[in-house]
Amino acid sequence: MSALEPQGMAPATGGLPVEAIPVLRKGLERAAARAFKAANRDNQARRGDRMWKLSMSDLGGCTREAAYKLADVPPTDPELAYDTEARQALIGTWIHEKYLPYFAAELADGEVEMPVKLTVPLFDPATGEFTGTQVVDGTTDLYTSVMGGGVVDLKTLGAYLLGGVEHDDVREEHRHQVRGYATALRQWGMPVAWVAWLYMDRANGEVALHIEPFTEDSEHATEERVRYLVGLAAAPDAAPRGHRGPGLSWVCDGCAWLKACFGPDAEPGDSSALQVHTAPEIAFAAEKYAELRAQIGALEKDRDMYGAMVGRPKPGDYGDMVITYGRDSEQVDKEAAVEMLTLLGAEIPMRPRRGNRNIRYRPGHTSKE
Ligand code: SF4
Repeated sequence: MSALEPQGMAPATGGLPVEAIPVLRKGLERAAARAFKAANRDNQARRGDRMWKLSMSDLGGCTREAAYKLADVPPTDPELAYDTEARQALIGTWIHEKYLPYFAAELADGEVEMPVKLTVPLFDPATGEFTGTQVVDGTTDLYTSVMGGGVVDLKTLGAYLLGGVEHDDVREEHRHQVRGYATALRQWGMPVAWVAWLYMDRANGEVALHIEPFTEDSEHATEERVRYLVGLAAAPDAAPRGHRGPGLSWVCDGCAWLKACFGPDAEPGDSSALQVHTAPEIAFAAEKYAELRAQIGALEKDRDMYGAMVGRPKPGDYGDMVITYGRDSEQVDKEAAVEMLTLLGAEIPMRPRRGNRNIRYRPGHTSKE
């Protein structure tokens, strides 16, 4: 059934009655969400059973998810991979599909979406004996023969996160993935002298580029990574988690092994599955929380000071830094809105609020259990 059913003929003049707009809004919002879900389902269906197998993008992804895949643990939450809206991932896919062919056309022999196969020999860690091979499939974003041959991987980022990438170098998770493609291409006899990451801001299309030579050490690092993941598959529930958990990470919220990883009550969007229950566990988490809160407080003060020093200069390049501005917009003035409702004698909508949690140090205190 569609999100909005036909409601008969529209009035000949005067347009839609304003009182019908809330109904229309609800229907269109539902259609927008359902469109993402349907697109995700189609996208995943194209991948078929490959979804549950280790692929090149898993080399740098969540280590526990990779271990589940390698150990053939059946997904406990397959519907999360199929039925979530997966908006960020889909928007990234659409940008890849539309943009990469044009990017490739600007390069010599630029070829997009090349299927590749990485084969890694495995050895018994105790005896060093050869035990078999692990094959990892993948699809490169772009291969070009320019400058000795190279692989370019496009990574789309959330709005205005490009600044972090420009500063922090390539994320290790992205390095594993792209080195995997490059190693597979070399195994296939294709020259690869460099790898590159093209980070793109999904909000404005701005890009930041990182380039690295691709060496024998890079190849060895790829093989070691695969062997490490294969080793974790012996006890996948003990493999390190790569993300923070439901409600805190959209990767966990869409993970097909969410319940295997965080327990049978874990639900996407709900961080309560992370809650610990024993006194030592609570003490550990509370201490960590208090430590980080203190660090964040200090960092925020420094950030505010440097922010005040920057001020609002003209947009442009300042040394290695670029300053731009988003479009001006309007936001709800909550205080004025409350004032207006009060003046109008309208009831102000309220919702229940839990009392603040107060975590503080009490050195020397021992809990009475
Ligand atoms: S739920 Fe999160 S941490 Fe656990 S396997 Fe999935 S992605 Fe990794």
